[in-house]
Amino acid sequence: MSSDDFADIRGVLSGFGCLGGMGADAHHTAQQNRAEDGTGITYTVPCDNCGIPNAITVSWDEFIYGLARQVPPGWKYEPRFGAIHPNVGCRSCRGLLMITLTPDECQRHLKAGEAEGKVSGPYIANAMATLKARGQGVRG
Ligand SMILES: [Zn+2]
Repeated sequence: MSSDDFADIRGVLSGFGCLGGMGADAHHTAQQNRAEDGTGITYTVPCDNCGIPNAITVSWDEFIYGLARQVPPGWKYEPRFGAIHPNVGCRSCRGLLMITLTPDECQRHLKAGEAEGKVSGPYIANAMATLKARGQGVRG
């Protein structure tokens, strides 16, 4: 594929403006950093409403829930994105902070955490088995 083909596609898409449904991913892109204490990943998420950056730490356990297609305690499932998100409000205006995690993303983060020695493979496998035994999947 040449870059010229790509430019054509972009030109067509941009003609639809913000009503075209494009850019949802970019909108929900958050900066990611490893949590300093190694318990998970800290996201810096600008509030949709007031723009203040909020830090949200997602623990390894919460990623494991997501990988098992289950909803961690205090989280919600968002069918529009096929993803889970923490039910957390902005520290300033209390508006819902929308960061979403798909099972694939959870798996990617867990693999990275495992590679860094922050979470162990057997721990993930055990937690997955426990969650699956409970059988509370959000969908098949
Ligand atoms: Zn806010």
